[in-house]
Amino acid sequence: MEKGNIFLEIQKQFIEIADTLSLEPEIIRELEEPHRVVKFQTSVLMDKGNIETFTGFRSQHNNALGPYKGGIRFYQGVSEDEIKALSMLMTWKCSLAGLPFGGAKGGIIIDPYNLSKGELERLSREYVRRTLHWIGVKKDIPAPDMNTNPQIMAWMVDEFSKLKGEFSPGAFTGKPEQLWGLDGRAEATGYGGVVILERLKKISKMNPKKTTIAIQGFGNVGSNFARFAFEKGYKIVALSEAVGGVYLKEGLDPDKVLECREEHGKIAGCYCRGSVCDFGGGKEVSNEELLEMEVDVLVPAAIENVITKENAKRIKAKYIIAMANNPITEEAQEILESRKIVVVPDILANSGGVIASYFEWLQAHQGVLWKREKVFKELSNTLEKSFDKVWDLSKKKKVGLRKAAHLLAVSRVAEAIKSKK
Ligand code: NAD
Repeated sequence: MEKGNIFLEIQKQFIEIADTLSLEPEIIRELEEPHRVVKFQTSVLMDKGNIETFTGFRSQHNNALGPYKGGIRFYQGVSEDEIKALSMLMTWKCSLAGLPFGGAKGGIIIDPYNLSKGELERLSREYVRRTLHWIGVKKDIPAPDMNTNPQIMAWMVDEFSKLKGEFSPGAFTGKPEQLWGLDGRAEATGYGGVVILERLKKISKMNPKKTTIAIQGFGNVGSNFARFAFEKGYKIVALSEAVGGVYLKEGLDPDKVLECREEHGKIAGCYCRGSVCDFGGGKEVSNEELLEMEVDVLVPAAIENVITKENAKRIKAKYIIAMANNPITEEAQEILESRKIVVVPDILANSGGVIASYFEWLQAHQGVLWKREKVFKELSNTLEKSFDKVWDLSKKKKVGLRKAAHLLAVSRVAEAIKSKK
């Protein structure tokens, strides 16, 4: 995997868009760096009685359109640059979807799998204490991200409510349903990716039964994308997780693969189709091999920077739906576009999650719980509109979908800033 400075890369991408839009220098200055980056050290009592110290961040990129919004990730590779970059991408993502939110991101450098449940709870509550001054229902609304989940949001919203002295379900999204969470939030990102796939089907007259898909990452996003695509009749031929993946020419049944993984602890060997999980003809594939497979649609749904200038020339898919954040480097993007591969960018493809988060935030304001059917219907409407706007602009300006999406997103934020001057 290529390792560069992810913030500089995302910032450069923004400057190019700003130049195309001929944005005023003061607007570029406001948008090229986050408004605020909070970095903190926090100490947590471990089960053995010792104290450990962790580093955390919250980057608030811009709030011209509304309160800052973005997830909190817990993992060893978190860095200030990564958090800043992802907060800028959140500003564009919320803008493109037409949401009344700005962009933020947070994280702690930690491998959460080395913590007990009690330690994880103390660390999660500590994150809230360290950022209390800057978060809130009309300030900055965090959500789950890599290795954080509804349980962690429940601890966080509880800590926030206690410290503020009032029940504040609108201050966090991605909460459990018992705590004003949204029915459908967990599936929303993967579902949204399939709404995009269906849009591509309509435009390109794909036949789902004959359309093969390879998905890298079988976590929340990858597995839900696989399940909804399978339901629509697409042929999921390859799936992977961090340690490797499976390929079955006849097509895999994602629900059965999930069950098989539950039983065996990994997807290796889960060649599931119908009720059978040792379907002959399946083979193991590495994550690198999966990306270069002979498939119609490739779905990177794991981590960033997996498609680079090294492997971009060997990608055989006709369509890439970028479900992970920033899975394609800038240089790789150029190679893919020159090869006429249609790439749906992350800020559009994976925006189903933040759109559903907006519905969850609305629920807290309205004091009314939304029905699941309404969630999926509104999600489809919002995503279809976003996709169509991006597609039309890309045809009109003769640019790739990534550039078209960024042009739309950045110009909406810039207009909001200008309107306040
Ligand atoms: P997750 O932790 O549930 O799953 C991640 C998956 O990727 C797992 O299957 C894991 O085994 C796999 N993986 C980890 N390291 C890998 C590696 N080096 N190579 C290949 N696979 C690897 O995470 P998620 O919530 O599914 O998020 C996946 C991506 O989508 C991330 O980039 C995240 O930022 C992005 N995203 C998530 C949401 C959401 O709502 N969950 C919303 C927008 C974007």
